[in-house]
Amino acid sequence: MNLAWQIEQYLPRQLLELVKDISGQAAKRGQRVYLVGGVVRDLLLGYPNFDLDLVVEGDAVKLAQQVAKTSQAKLLAHHRFGTAKLRYGNFSLDLATARGETYAKPGALPAVTPGTLKNDLIRRDFSVNAMAISLASNDYGELVDPYQGKSDLEHRLIRILHPGSFSDDATRILRAVRYEQRLGFELEAQTAQLLKRDIPMLDTISGDRIRHELELILKEKRPEFVIRRLAELGVLQRISPLLKGDGWLVEKFDKARRLKKPSQLPSLYFCLLVYSFSENEIEQLLVRLNIPAKLSRAMRDTLRLKTRLALLDTSPLKPSEIYYLLREYESMAIETNAIASDSSTVHHYLQLFLTKLRYVRTALDGEELKRLGISAGPEMGQVLQILHKAKLDGEVRTRADEKKLARSLSPKS
Ligand code: ATP
Ligand code: MG
Repeated sequence: MNLAWQIEQYLPRQLLELVKDISGQAAKRGQRVYLVGGVVRDLLLGYPNFDLDLVVEGDAVKLAQQVAKTSQAKLLAHHRFGTAKLRYGNFSLDLATARGETYAKPGALPAVTPGTLKNDLIRRDFSVNAMAISLASNDYGELVDPYQGKSDLEHRLIRILHPGSFSDDATRILRAVRYEQRLGFELEAQTAQLLKRDIPMLDTISGDRIRHELELILKEKRPEFVIRRLAELGVLQRISPLLKGDGWLVEKFDKARRLKKPSQLPSLYFCLLVYSFSENEIEQLLVRLNIPAKLSRAMRDTLRLKTRLALLDTSPLKPSEIYYLLREYESMAIETNAIASDSSTVHHYLQLFLTKLRYVRTALDGEELKRLGISAGPEMGQVLQILHKAKLDGEVRTRADEKKLARSLSPKS
């Protein structure tokens, strides 16, 4: 099968120019270059994907360096293990030296040796991700598909390449479900069986790697479906027995998407995922996933604040009361509770804090207070606090109001 037409059709002109430049230079060096992985899958499906991965039979770093020297593309980075990144205009593209991998033990990072395209494809996760397209001039556009990836695409199946795949690298368990849900595919029958058998192998994977896969899941358009499916398969429980992928989560993830910016979503989703945990229960998960400090604080705060929401749901509160109650929490924890709580009063107060109260500042500063006869130190601290509270509650509005109040508080008045 030849995909030259699809390449020309779907890739933006600039990106195509760079690809052609690379393959031309490679030919001069006697190297063959292929498009591989996600972009091949998506070209066949007709989905846009401008995240290009190229495999080079030969030294990818040297090739990238030469392309950078002789064209407008810039070499962004290169690594000793044979990968390089090129940028051209708004696009970037990854080049890798074709390689084979062997796993000394389950979950270990693989030992890597230079190899052919075929070696490079067999180390991949699923048949639909293990296809390549030749970019050489004599067979430009030819599909290389040694594992029936195209047939699996047509039958909408996620299939591993060999029975040891999940135990070699159990992150593939999470990846399989992510692609299954994203593409609306099914796990092929034997793959599904092996996936369930190998769920315990998740214990061989480091916290950082599991968290990274969860982050990728949380960047999907509808992560709640991936989470729900992971729960159904018993995968989620292996990461933490308390994690759930139920209807509540589906509803709240959906609400989060409607209300928040895309960049906030992954952290917010993490906080929602642990919403049913107790303050003690969360610690184990933070350790298991090696969650970074700021997100850990947000997740802990989410649960601490949850236990205090009842205080917001009683009699009417003054703005300053809301402020003092909420100021100690990470803003992400407040955002999460605003989405998680079903009380409209709570929602209103949390939003008020997030959009207004936390930004309220007094117009007068220390210098001006000194001129009004208030001395630096605890006295000034107290006056500033009184001014701030009065401003929060709308008792003072203008600079003149603040001056008047400050004067009345000055010992010399
Ligand atoms: P996406 O659209 O999610 O980016 P992708 O296929 O480009 O899909 P990447 O995570 O960018 O996925 O990885 C690029 C390629 O590397 C994949 O297509 C797959 O062939 C291979 N790959 C990634 N992770 C693994 C893994 N854990 N085991 C085997 N192969 C992997
Ligand atoms: Mg990719």
